[in-house]
Amino acid sequence: MAHDMSTTIDQPIVDIAQLPTQWARIRGRLQGEVGDLEYRNWLRQMALDGVDGDEITVLLPSRFLCDWVRGRYGDRLTCLWQEENPLIRRVDIRVGAARGANGAAPVAALAESLAVTTEPPPAVAKPEERMDQRPDLTIDPRFTFEAFVVGKPNEFAHACARRVAEQPSSAGFNPLFLYGGVGLGKTHLMHAMAWELVGRGNSGAGRPVSVAYMSAEKFMYRFIAAIRSQSTMQFKEQLRSVDVLMIDDLQFLIGKDNTQEEFFHTFNALVDVGKQIVVSADKSPSDLSGLDDRLRTRLGYGMVADLHATTFELRISILEAKAMRAGVAVPAKVMDFLAHKITSNVRELEGALNRLIAHANLFGRPVTLEATQEVLNDILKAHDRRVTIDEIQKRVAEHFSIRLSDMSSARRARAVARPRQVAMYLAKQLTQRSLPEIGRRFGNRDHTTVMHAVSRVGELMTLDAGFADDVELLRRMLES
Ligand code: ADP
Ligand code: MG
Repeated sequence: MAHDMSTTIDQPIVDIAQLPTQWARIRGRLQGEVGDLEYRNWLRQMALDGVDGDEITVLLPSRFLCDWVRGRYGDRLTCLWQEENPLIRRVDIRVGAARGANGAAPVAALAESLAVTTEPPPAVAKPEERMDQRPDLTIDPRFTFEAFVVGKPNEFAHACARRVAEQPSSAGFNPLFLYGGVGLGKTHLMHAMAWELVGRGNSGAGRPVSVAYMSAEKFMYRFIAAIRSQSTMQFKEQLRSVDVLMIDDLQFLIGKDNTQEEFFHTFNALVDVGKQIVVSADKSPSDLSGLDDRLRTRLGYGMVADLHATTFELRISILEAKAMRAGVAVPAKVMDFLAHKITSNVRELEGALNRLIAHANLFGRPVTLEATQEVLNDILKAHDRRVTIDEIQKRVAEHFSIRLSDMSSARRARAVARPRQVAMYLAKQLTQRSLPEIGRRFGNRDHTTVMHAVSRVGELMTLDAGFADDVELLRRMLES
C-alpha cells in the first residue's frame, strides 16, 4: 500500500510545455513515412487533446476516421511518441473536436475528410521529384476489399482481384487485366489487392511480398526521369525485383511509344520469372487500339475482367454501405432518389453522398429529401437535362431497330414489347411524368402496365449484364 503510494508520487510527470513541439515532430515524421496523400487523407486532422499520466489523447473528427487511424497507424503513433517522450506509454485515439481551435475548424476538417480524393494530387511535381516516391506508399487506405461493395456488374472483376491477391501468379490469372469506364472501381480494386498482398505478406521466400503500384502516367515519369539521370538500369532492376507489379490506367501509354516499349520489356521480364502483373485500362485489350500489338496480345493471355456500368441495386448497396461507414442516417427515400438520379459512376454518387453528409454534420440537421435536393442542386441539374418521352421512344426504337409506331402499337411480340418496356422504364427514370401519363403516351396503356415494365426491366438488368449495359448506354445517350 505504502509502496504503491510512493511510486505514484515519485513518478516523473510529463512536461506539458514540450508536447506541442514533440507532436509537431511526430506529425512530420509520420508524414514522411506514409506519404503526402495518406497524410492528407487521414492524419492531418489529428489534434492533440492532452496527456493523462502516461497516456496521450489524440482526437479525430469522426468515428470512421478514428477507427482507420487506430487500425492503421495506432501502433506507429505509440512508437513515435515513446521515442519522442519516454514517459508516454500509450496513445488513445478518440472522436472529438480540437479544443482551442476556432469553432469552424473541426467541421471544415470533417468535410475535407469526406471529400472524394481518389486520384493523387495533380501532377505539379516535377518528374525528378516523383522519382523518389516509393510506389507502394501511394495506396489509399480507404480502398480495401471490405469497403468494396459487390454486385452483379463487378462481381467477376472482384472475384478475380480477390483470387490474385490470395494466390498471386496462379495459372490463368497472370496478367490480370481489369477494365471498365471511369469511376467504376478499378483503382479501388487494385489498391485493395495491394493491401491484401502486403498485409498477408509472405512471398514464399521468407520475406514480405513486395508490391509496386503506380499509374501508367507515373511509370512514364519515372522512366523519363531515369533516362535523364542515366539510371535506367536502376529503374529496371527496381521494377524487376518486385513480386507484384500493378499499372493503373494503361491507356495513358497509347502514343507514348518508348515508354510502352519499356513497359513491354518489364512486363515480359516479370511474367517470365513467374511474377504477377495487374493492369487496368478503360477498354479491353483488343479495344486498346494504338497499343503495341505484341503488348496487347500478351495482356490478353491471362484473365481479362470488366467492370460494368452500375445498376440501380448496386448503387443502393453502395450508398447504404457508405452511409453506414460514415455513421450517418440516410433515409431510404433519399438513397432511392440519389440512385435514380446519379447514374454515371460510383465516384459521382459517392461525391454527392459525401456532400450531403458533410452538410448534415455542418448544420446538425438530419438528411431529408428536401435538403438533398437543395444541397445537390447543381449536381442534379447537370444530370437532369430535360428529356422528353418522344426522344426516349425515338432513341430506343432506333437502338433496337423497331418502328417508332410500335412504341404505341398493340403488338405484343417480344421483339417490340421489350424495347417498349425499356422506353417506359427510361421515361420513368428520366422524366417527371407520372405512371398514368407515361401509359397514355405509349398507346394509352394502363399505369399498371408501366409499373410492370419498370420493375421487369430493373429485374432483367440485374440478371443480364449485357442488357444492363444496353439500358445504361441508352440512358447516358439521352442524358447527354
Ligand atoms: P476507376 O479507377 O475505375 O476510375 P475508382 O476505383 O477510382 O474508379 O472508384 C471511384 C470511387 O468510387 C472510389 O472512391 C471508390 O472507392 C468508389 N467505388 C467504386 N466502386 C465501388 C464499389 N463497388 N464499392 C464501393 N466503392 C466503390
Ligand atoms: Mg482509376
